[in-house]
Amino acid sequence: MENKNIATRSNSGKKEDQDWNDTSMKDEKSSKGSEVALDKSKENSLQKVFEKLLKDIYTAELELVDALPKVIEAAHEEDLEDVLRDHLEDTKRQVKRLEKVFGQLDIETSDAEISEPMSGLIAEANKIIKEFKIGPVRDSALIIVAQKIEHYEIATYGSLRTLADVLYLEAIGDVMDRSLEEEKQADEMLSELAEEINDMACRYNERDYKSQKSSSKS
Ligand code: FE
Ligand code: FE
Ligand code: ZN
Repeated sequence: MENKNIATRSNSGKKEDQDWNDTSMKDEKSSKGSEVALDKSKENSLQKVFEKLLKDIYTAELELVDALPKVIEAAHEEDLEDVLRDHLEDTKRQVKRLEKVFGQLDIETSDAEISEPMSGLIAEANKIIKEFKIGPVRDSALIIVAQKIEHYEIATYGSLRTLADVLYLEAIGDVMDRSLEEEKQADEMLSELAEEINDMACRYNERDYKSQKSSSKS
């Protein structure tokens, strides 16, 4: 509860932007030279955690904008395509939202690294597309990886929301909340779809299994 950040800016609500501009949000390269002692403490700040999270979700969303069209094309059920297509539009809005936030906080996005967890999940989706033929089974597998993606985003936006409150960045917290709600909604719709599609996938397997059996008998 009592950290220096909170203590130094307890009064004026408009101080927060200056804090971000003046101190911890400058890049690491320029900090290597002169003010090592000060910068060290900044390295270890909650603002730094916040900045890293923001950059991670930003590149993650960008990767998703690139990756989702292929996943949509690989889906069989129209309902699944629709949910994914709608969420692609959400995702594009989320990218714009984040870019606004970077501008407000004067954070450069150019040094944002690739999001390894998101890259891993996207690779998983691509593997599923290669491994399973178009149809309900592939759809089920795609829903699972899509939900993993949503859960990753929910964890990240939820944490950004929480940290924004602690860092007195309430307006930015509200923006994070909007994206958080979209991720939750997408996750819920995928859960509903899974009930229907898993059952189709299950029956599809049964049929497959029966025909295999009968053909091996004759
Ligand atoms: Fe997203
Ligand atoms: Fe999402
Ligand atoms: Zn069944």
